[in-house]
Amino acid sequence: MSTYDPNRTVVVATGNAHKLSEIRTILSTAPGMEEMEFVSLGELGDFEEPVEDGETFFDNALIKARDALDQTGMRMAVADDSGLMVDALDGAPGIFSARFAGDHGNDAANNQKLLECMADVPQAERTARFHSSVVLVTRDEDGEEVLAGEGDCEGTIAYDQRGNNGFGYDPLFDLADIPGKRMAELEPDQKNAISHRRRALDDLVVKLS
Ligand code: IMP
Repeated sequence: MSTYDPNRTVVVATGNAHKLSEIRTILSTAPGMEEMEFVSLGELGDFEEPVEDGETFFDNALIKARDALDQTGMRMAVADDSGLMVDALDGAPGIFSARFAGDHGNDAANNQKLLECMADVPQAERTARFHSSVVLVTRDEDGEEVLAGEGDCEGTIAYDQRGNNGFGYDPLFDLADIPGKRMAELEPDQKNAISHRRRALDDLVVKLS
């Protein structure tokens, strides 16, 4: 049996410790959230991951947040979904970012495939953005409330990989906000200050106000 109070717990539907801490840090000072305890889904039990078959980042974040509530019986859950959208590829890989090259989470293969897809695209047409949707679902006797925050981080896709930090497509992502810098060259704190996830969380905080 869980010892967490459903009225004072926010389930964070992620297995990623870094995301848990980022979400906790930003949301715990938001209006109405000061008394809440942010707990990862894994701390509440051993649950199977839901099928993310939505058509948008928002859909998939909502699927994860609702599933966390269904599985735990808690009343408040937050989840995020994110990915890379490349203009020359009509927004791909988009919601398929984690498995662009086939295997889920194979960053090296995904980056290699993106480089190949973009090989003949001129610099001016290499614009792209990371996008994040963060969804907070609250349930009570009257039903369910859904609040969402959306955030983008703009840049261009490089012709080669550079930098050792971050994950995913970071070594290929030249930042619009910091000319000459690749996302994978930022220190974690620098990335967290400008990332799509940060901006989506900030947007959600505004909606909680
Ligand atoms: P998730 O929503 O964090 O699971 O991200 C899905 C996929 O999008 C990841 O596997 C990465 O390929 C890509 N992605 C999301 N956020 C980032 C980021 O900050 N940097 C690089 N790739 C990212």
